[in-house]
Amino acid sequence: MSKGWNGRPPAGRIAYVDGRYVPHGRAGVHVEDRGLQLGDAVYEVFGVSGGQLMDESEHLDRLERSLREIEIALPMRRAALQLVLRELVRRNAVKDGLLYLQISRGVARRDHPIPKVAPRPGLILTVRSVPPGEFEKRRRDGVTVITRLDERWGRRDIKTVQLLPNLLAKTAARRAGAYEAWLVDQEGLVTEGSSTNAWIVDGQGNLRTRPLSTAILPGVTRRVILEAAAEAQLPVVEVPFSPGEIRTAREAFISSATGVMPVTQVDGRPVGEGKPGPVTRRVQELYALTSAGRAAKSGT
Ligand code: PLP
Repeated sequence: MSKGWNGRPPAGRIAYVDGRYVPHGRAGVHVEDRGLQLGDAVYEVFGVSGGQLMDESEHLDRLERSLREIEIALPMRRAALQLVLRELVRRNAVKDGLLYLQISRGVARRDHPIPKVAPRPGLILTVRSVPPGEFEKRRRDGVTVITRLDERWGRRDIKTVQLLPNLLAKTAARRAGAYEAWLVDQEGLVTEGSSTNAWIVDGQGNLRTRPLSTAILPGVTRRVILEAAAEAQLPVVEVPFSPGEIRTAREAFISSATGVMPVTQVDGRPVGEGKPGPVTRRVQELYALTSAGRAAKSGT
């Protein structure tokens, strides 16, 4: 998780806002930006490793899909956007970190309906370094999770910036001494984490995660893991699981642009042996190999 900077922006960072590279401390948006006023915006988070964007084309595919779903145009051609993303990483000299992209519908007089004449979409990019050890320890030792009712809206497949229910769940997790919250739907089945996809290795030894639908975000890391697991012939089932099934699971883990992290405890009970398991370790290896291979091929 990012460290807050208590109102004082870090020196030397460069953001990109609506066509211009600007010092992070002076970067801002208009008060009537619909992203700010109404959450009328979508976002992406890219991992940066060794100065390269991870799973870049998958993130851009999902971005274009989210935009289509809420009828916002990509503010520039995809190839131009890719150049800007890389240039921002370069200008900030980020080797390992996270790049955040937000596209809002743009500035318009405040009114709920989508404006008849589309405003120019707003584009914000920021990138920050993550100290190499920050996620490494969690990927090695694992994290703990709590379960919570999934109070989010019905189109969770769109990567919208309306993250209030997600941040409330994450806060509840942190206050309970856990790292992540797994959200449980009205049927008593786990949807996903507040900012991660949820996985178990079930009692039969299958890698198990919820199938794609409007109930979950189509995680890029999830997709890469599924492809890599199929290639490695690991048994995979896309079937939802309940908190009860977590108790009989052999292993559990979460996936996101910050990597694959073993889950050692859910709601205070150990998962399996209460430590990162062999299947999770294998998935970590497969994911690292697959996405590093792709980054090398796309030459980011
Ligand atoms: N689920 C939710 C709700 C998320 O917010 C995220 C990432 O932010 C994920 C899953 C994981 O997606 P990805 O692997 O594309 O980072």
